Amino acid sequence: MTSACPYCRCGFEPEEEALTCEACATPHHADCYAENGGCTVFGCAKAPADEPKVSISSADLSQARPAVAAAPPPPNPALTTSVAPPPRPPGAPPRIQVTEPAPERGLSFGGYSAVSHAPIAPYTRRRTRTNYVLLGVFLGGLGVHNFYAGYTKRAVGQMLLTLLSFFFLGWAAWIWALVEVCIVKQDGDGVPLL
Ligand SMILES: [Zn+2]
Ligand SMILES: [Zn+2]
Repeated sequence: MTSACPYCRCGFEPEEEALTCEACATPHHADCYAENGGCTVFGCAKAPADEPKVSISSADLSQARPAVAAAPPPPNPALTTSVAPPPRPPGAPPRIQVTEPAPERGLSFGGYSAVSHAPIAPYTRRRTRTNYVLLGVFLGGLGVHNFYAGYTKRAVGQMLLTLLSFFFLGWAAWIWALVEVCIVKQDGDGVPLL
């Protein structure tokens, strides 16, 4: 016999007489039993009949079990054969793969392409040549202008040249940047600088 009422989860006072369910012998407070309108044990025969969740009989449970259990029905060999997709006909033409021609490369020298054929997306954030020149003149030794324009490899090269030489070769990276400022007309995405 449990020591707590299943309805209110409270224990029974010593002077209080527990009302024991006739069907499942579960003790209840008399008030709790009356408030619930019957036994509060799930599935008990003395549970109130107007509450469907406590009045489910074993027959109802067995009927509801397929709906509750999400397991798929056992495979039917006759069904699986009809569901399977039809095999590809042997004479069907192979799927044609359209390959776009490689974009035409403009004249390039040392990786610096002179002409851009890249389409400009309308939503692309355009980099300005003014910013590129200013960054190259003042911070070109650290490759900042190339970071700005999207030439990450060149930017890292210039930054490492300056930093790894403890700025002794910073002048070289800076001259490199000045040359780039003069000849670079587009950013790393091939979009002309504004
Ligand atoms: Zn109670
Ligand atoms: Zn009961």
